[in-house]
Amino acid sequence: MCGIVVYVGSKQASPILMKGLKRLEYRGYDSAGIALLNKNVRVFKSKGKVADLEKHIAGQNLEATVGIAHTRWATHGEPNNINAHPHYSQSKELAIIHNGIIENYDSLKKELVNRGYVFESDTDTEVLIYLIEDIQKNEQVDLFEAVRIALNQVIGAYAIVIISKNEPNVLIGARKGSPLVIGVGEGEYYIASDASPIIEYTKHVVYLEEEEVAFVKLNHPLKIKTIKNQEKTPYIEKLEMNLSELEKEGFEHFMLKEIYEQPRSIRDSFRGRLNLEQGIVNMGGINEYEQKLLNARRIIIIACGTSWHAGLVGEYLFEDLARIPVEVEYASEFRYRNPILTEDDVVIAISQSGETADTLAAIELAKSKGATILGVCNVVGSSIARAAHAGAFTHAGPEIGVASTKAFTAQVTVLTLMALALAQRKGTLTSTRFMEILTEINSIPEKVEKTLKTSQQVIEIAEKFKDVRNFLYLGRGYNFPVALEGALKLKEISYIHAEGYPAAEMKHGPIALIDADMPIVFIATNKGTYVKVVSNILEVKARKGIVIAIVTEGDIQVKELADYVIEIPETEEMLVPLLATIPLQKLSYHIAVMRGCNVDQPRNLAKSVTVE
Ligand code: GLU
Repeated sequence: MCGIVVYVGSKQASPILMKGLKRLEYRGYDSAGIALLNKNVRVFKSKGKVADLEKHIAGQNLEATVGIAHTRWATHGEPNNINAHPHYSQSKELAIIHNGIIENYDSLKKELVNRGYVFESDTDTEVLIYLIEDIQKNEQVDLFEAVRIALNQVIGAYAIVIISKNEPNVLIGARKGSPLVIGVGEGEYYIASDASPIIEYTKHVVYLEEEEVAFVKLNHPLKIKTIKNQEKTPYIEKLEMNLSELEKEGFEHFMLKEIYEQPRSIRDSFRGRLNLEQGIVNMGGINEYEQKLLNARRIIIIACGTSWHAGLVGEYLFEDLARIPVEVEYASEFRYRNPILTEDDVVIAISQSGETADTLAAIELAKSKGATILGVCNVVGSSIARAAHAGAFTHAGPEIGVASTKAFTAQVTVLTLMALALAQRKGTLTSTRFMEILTEINSIPEKVEKTLKTSQQVIEIAEKFKDVRNFLYLGRGYNFPVALEGALKLKEISYIHAEGYPAAEMKHGPIALIDADMPIVFIATNKGTYVKVVSNILEVKARKGIVIAIVTEGDIQVKELADYVIEIPETEEMLVPLLATIPLQKLSYHIAVMRGCNVDQPRNLAKSVTVE
């Protein structure tokens, strides 16, 4: 959620900051601002997009080699020019940008108000910078120390960066709950909420850990302390990301580019793990915990949103292939229940960004009860990847479109491999069957390529239904999570109400919605419960519903019943989600474009949900 970009060096800061903010636009936000330090701290901010800020600063004197920039996703106070970041301290000598929430801002604010402070904004962030300045003055400490002391009084989540008129060339950064990356260049430093604004300048980064405060001074080595005053040695990592992964490369939207990347991203997520010649699946990252998994009483999958849907596919996979009981939980519910967990439970936490606040909190809870935590994340170096005992990266590459596409199929691929690796060790599959599935996974990228060629049918369907108000998505077995994911994609980017259901559940309620105006998307591929799904389609047709069906190539029966058909290549039942999801992603995409929606930055949504 929201973005941070910061620069100190010898170049002009503002072009770097503005470009960085654009790189972070995918995260979702409602206002933007920058503060430049050149003798004084000058703040420019505006409601709306980075383009609005650009207009606002045009023609101004932006001379400065130090600056901080922010895109805000409002939590405290409406999105307007005043609440936008950066925020000044009372004296206007300091300025702060902040991602996250200061939960005890109210009591801190009351105390400061009692002491005569007057606030300009409604934000929790302004309270924090006033508090820091107050400590600095009253306790006669430098800024680094004042920030450290202040953060000991704060409850909540933060990634912050502060600049000070009195210490030019110094940046103070700190994090808890929200990520912060420091880029170490030649005679310059960058700070950002993820590596994407940094990558074109330096590949050397330091990921700040929880409750760490960084003292970043030009031409000085980086200093890091915990908020409890423990010195830390900065660990410089090399980024593997490429700049081209952050560009649209000729596609109209990032989402479309990412949909089309799936043959590659799926292959990348099994590359080096699936070995057809030797007939093995090797999940390097979790080998150490293999015994734990094999002996697990059960697996609990925790996730949110699209990742939760991938988790649901995981449930079918682990139970089906490896015969281990699985429960799939919404992280946000799980963390506030009193879940029964023991040391014999293995928790698999799934998150594209690896920063999802609820999933992180659920991990901490499960850890405290002794469970083993495996992470499935896309972003290397992310908080969840670090909080987990072990795990597997999905290797889908940076996902910029807010609506997840390639990350979902990569998550499903990784879960499939994990289930297969366990099945092999447990002997729950014959070696012939195991090899059949392995061989089929290897051919999935090619089949995805073929599935991507269904554009014409998808566009025709989109054209026909772009103005309806409701959609229903139905599937059974492995295709039930596909239905949920299809409905979520449509909701997210086209704002059409859509619901996913297990097809048989239709009779228990949703059937009442069906009439001649209601499109119902069936995922009706030829394995598993195919015959049952055919009956469900007949039930819909009997009520004059419009059926759009995703079927297997060569299908006869459903084709006769359905109004619209999209064919996907034949594959193993458990691998169908990897193919059937593709036309549904494209359907949502085309409908959203036809409706004039902002596909890559849908309203109200943020890419990584770092607040609970
Ligand atoms: N809580 C802060 C605000 O509402 C920061 C929100 C954000 O993370 O952008 O201003």
